Amino acid sequence: MAVKEILESLDWGPAPESDKFAREWLDQHGPSFGMYINGQWVTPESGDNFESFNPATGELLGTISQAGDSEVNSAVAAARAALPGWSSSPGHVRARYLYAIARQVQKHHRLLAVIETLDNGKPIRETRDADVPLVARHFYHHAGWAQLFDETFPGYGPVGVCGQVIPWNFPLLMLAWKIAPALAAGNTVVLKPAEFTSISALVFAEICNSVGLPPGVVNIVTGDGKTGALITEHDDIDKVAFTGSTEVGRIIRKATAGSGKALTLELGGKSPFIVFEDADIDSAIEGLVNAIWFNQGQVCCAGSRLLVQESIAERFHEKLRSRMAKLRIGNPMNKAIDMGAIVDESQRKTIEDLCKLGCDEGGEMWQPSTELPDKGCFFPPTLFTNVSPSSTIVQEEVFGPVLVSLTFRNHKEAISLANNTRYGLAGSVWSQDIDTALEVARSIRAGAIWVNCTNQFDANAGFGGYRESGFGREGGREGMHAYMRPLSNGTKTEKMESRGEQKSATKSSSSNATESVDRTAKMYIGGKQKRPDGGYTMDVTGPSGTVGQVGRGNRKDIRDAVEAASGATKWATTNAHTRSQILYYIAENLEQRSAEFAARISAMTGSTTAQAESEVADAVSEWFRWAAWADKYDGAVHETTMHGLVLALNEPLGVVGVTCPDERPLFGFTRLVAPLLAMGNSVIAVPSESNPLAATDLYQVLETSDLPAGVLNIVTGIHSEFVPALAAHDGVDSMWVGVGDVDEVQIASVSNMKRVWKVNMDASGDEYLRQSTHVKNIWLPHGINHATKHRPMGSANSARPSTNVSRGPSTNGCRRS
Ligand code: NDP
Repeated sequence: MAVKEILESLDWGPAPESDKFAREWLDQHGPSFGMYINGQWVTPESGDNFESFNPATGELLGTISQAGDSEVNSAVAAARAALPGWSSSPGHVRARYLYAIARQVQKHHRLLAVIETLDNGKPIRETRDADVPLVARHFYHHAGWAQLFDETFPGYGPVGVCGQVIPWNFPLLMLAWKIAPALAAGNTVVLKPAEFTSISALVFAEICNSVGLPPGVVNIVTGDGKTGALITEHDDIDKVAFTGSTEVGRIIRKATAGSGKALTLELGGKSPFIVFEDADIDSAIEGLVNAIWFNQGQVCCAGSRLLVQESIAERFHEKLRSRMAKLRIGNPMNKAIDMGAIVDESQRKTIEDLCKLGCDEGGEMWQPSTELPDKGCFFPPTLFTNVSPSSTIVQEEVFGPVLVSLTFRNHKEAISLANNTRYGLAGSVWSQDIDTALEVARSIRAGAIWVNCTNQFDANAGFGGYRESGFGREGGREGMHAYMRPLSNGTKTEKMESRGEQKSATKSSSSNATESVDRTAKMYIGGKQKRPDGGYTMDVTGPSGTVGQVGRGNRKDIRDAVEAASGATKWATTNAHTRSQILYYIAENLEQRSAEFAARISAMTGSTTAQAESEVADAVSEWFRWAAWADKYDGAVHETTMHGLVLALNEPLGVVGVTCPDERPLFGFTRLVAPLLAMGNSVIAVPSESNPLAATDLYQVLETSDLPAGVLNIVTGIHSEFVPALAAHDGVDSMWVGVGDVDEVQIASVSNMKRVWKVNMDASGDEYLRQSTHVKNIWLPHGINHATKHRPMGSANSARPSTNVSRGPSTNGCRRS
């Protein structure tokens, strides 16, 4: 075509990437692929296998082994055997391996990018410019953590053997997010890629082999969900790390509950993309293209819920439709296309069904008349308007190129709509007004917020969710903690529990409330002393007989306490100085009543006066300690590859339920409650069952210390009668189990997958603070020269490990705008 004609039509010619290297690799290793276990390539005893196709063409790429019991057992055994050697090797040695892997990933960049595109259907521009560079970046970055491990994380060691299960949307990148931190911290791994996209993990296994990684440190087993379950349920796995659907995440949460396995879950999302009337509209449109049509929308943090200010909605939708009409859909090996294939026909069908449901529920669906290829799994970019916040298409993760749009009038409504989801993975805010942008960014309950940008990822910024988007972080210092455990063990706590249990067993279970009305300590809910709902009380006994009575709480008391705590979330935004002042008051007021508290503790526990006085002194000191921390547990500014600031904020978890130990009841109560309060959480504390008066005596202290109503609620009684209700309550965001059956709490809290911590009383302060918070990363790109904002990603040095795929024109065909 003549240049003149090209300029007139602005049509693009094809720019196919060569698949030569990839074909050679597939021919050499295929058509049947084995698994990588203990440094060897093995095929399953059963001979089971399945086929892997190129979703863009339907072409068979190879036959993949299906691991069964025997292979998973071998892989876990290999990882176990390799653990002592790997975990005790100096950080520098681990660093060198990770560094060598990073180098090999770069060396085989093209092979990996092409394999990924052939197997997954995503555009080669994305695998080349985003997936593979980020994989290399992850291994380099974590080589650094391995090198610095001892000096940065003293007192911590690896968790052990990690079972890792990953999805098909970013096959190699998810592998890197899992394997790099695990190895850096000294763990060994058994990883299963998704059935649709196993091949790049096998190339990676070959890389591990080529750098001489000791056998068993990395084991790659292939298979479907059954293999995944064999790994996650395996008795000899110490930690499970999973990325995928919330549905499977829930199954895994249930399967691992009570097993003692550490767990991190990175699950689904329905992330808001909020555009204010003062936004740079053209940049926002390009950002949106990237947010929802990057990887065909098969991205857990896809900006799939557009919230646009009413005043600009019509204009915005118009521009959006015209932009959508220009997206090019086709062979993902063509460097000029914007959207490739959906990973599999089953996924395409799921997307289609959800769209049909969206229409049936009254939504208006719009798709451009863009021609789709004749064969292969393709789905056009799709926009839904005229939907309500409760529509299925607005609430459910579609995991495809489908955007829903809602409007809002002011920032309050925007925040409320943004948070109207069970998920909390990410969000994107577009406004030129820094006050609006930051206020809204801070108010969205999600793990990553992008201001005037979207889909930014970096190895040094933890990624992960709030609520049903899972827990744990991947990347950066916060991600390293997901693969470490404190070296001190919890035996002391366990001893405390068993002693407490003995004493509880001697307790009388109930008594008539009217008989002891004057001596009965009530519940403390919403800043008020309240009688227990059931009207029952229970005796508190000491070595010399009955010391008093407390209310015997039930499910209704728990519901009231959760309601009170949920209404007290302003505590989270109360400035840290004020929170700290209030905790100091509590300490002072408690100290003034030391003698009284000591006497009560002695009477309940039989401890000597000196022991009881020492316990009160320790509790006072503990309140002082966490008051001191309230304004000192800073976040960080992450160094990433983006030009700008990435602010890592330590945010409170929300409402936290706590069961407090029996031993040293006042001190134990304080150690668990005070750090949570210091970090801005609202707490429902269940004091020691045997010695609850240590906590109920605190009511007056709390009342005179200006602690806002509802921030700390205290429910007494027989734990087994109401703690399961506390664990199961959807309004409780996290549980700290200081006493009692952690397994039971984990099982009861499967439905909303809350983070559960089995408290280690001896853990470091840092551990307590981390368990009291989760990290939100706010990405703030900046730069005076707006021209740089519009640089197409393809024009950057492709070796640069950046995913600046969202700002202005993005990887997705923005060159046409
Ligand atoms: P899944 O959650 O089913 O799969 C993720 C991984 O878990 C895969 O390796 C899968 O194996 C494995 N798996 C499946 N069942 C089990 C199990 N019982 N125990 C252990 N592992 C298991 O996601 P899908 O791939 O099936 O996609 C379904 C939906 O999930 C999508 O439509 C999308 O909504 C969502 N999704 C979300 C992702 C995210 O990052 N948030 C990523 C991928 C999907 P295999 O695939 O081999 O069967």
